[in-house]
Amino acid sequence: MAGLYVFKGNALLGRLNAQEFQAGEDLKPEETKDLFKEVPKAEFFSIPALDAPGLTDVVMLPEEGEIPLGWKAVPVRQVLDQISGGFMVDGFGAAGRILRAYHIAQWRRDSRFCGSCGAPNEDALGGFLARQCKNCGRLEFPRISPAVITIIINDKGEALLAHNKKFINGVYSLIAGFNEAGESLEGTVARETREEVGIEVKDIRYVRSQPWPFPNSLMLGFAARYASGEIKPDGIEIEDARWFKKDDLPPLPGTGSVSRYLIGLWLDGGLLP
Ligand SMILES: [Zn+2]
Repeated sequence: MAGLYVFKGNALLGRLNAQEFQAGEDLKPEETKDLFKEVPKAEFFSIPALDAPGLTDVVMLPEEGEIPLGWKAVPVRQVLDQISGGFMVDGFGAAGRILRAYHIAQWRRDSRFCGSCGAPNEDALGGFLARQCKNCGRLEFPRISPAVITIIINDKGEALLAHNKKFINGVYSLIAGFNEAGESLEGTVARETREEVGIEVKDIRYVRSQPWPFPNSLMLGFAARYASGEIKPDGIEIEDARWFKKDDLPPLPGTGSVSRYLIGLWLDGGLLP
């Protein structure tokens, strides 16, 4: 048994025991499943764990309805920021299991019917994670959408940080965007940078990835050097973008994000030789 996770909407549910939030391996699986088995529309399923033998059990509760007494709902993104003060530093472990369970729970919710003929899907047989249409046989695999995020450094050693309209509290982060069909990841880095801040980059190189199911993304962290052009925020997504020195930084993203990880590498001098 590789843990049990209970989700409700975008939140992970855990037991509150003497102020301690207990989820995953700290839950008693049978007792927990019994507690939720009468909840209408609750779904129960198991998925193979990637880093341990056995299965991870998942309970997906409908968004409506009360949280049981003695339990607490914490948004999944907030849980990630709290794990060991930032799971990007300490490796994935528990965070990886939460992300995988959450990703699959959402995929199951969104793949109840065949995208081709509209008949109900059911779990595919054969030891791989997929759903299959009972009518036409179409297989549906978990959807993973690659997105790139890039730290861009100029010749003075400054990093380009941008404020997106969606960011709260004045946070500045890195340029990011989804890979398009038919495009290389390096192509996405160059295009998103051009579209969002109007500059050209060179020496694009891959650094690290992070599962990011909010929803169904895989974030691919890149580093690049400034090549040419003047910063010009697009005004649609990006409100402001500037070069920042290491000793004069704006509010940064949470520690559970690949953007913060890349910024941390730059701050420590470990990014570009
Ligand atoms: Zn079908």
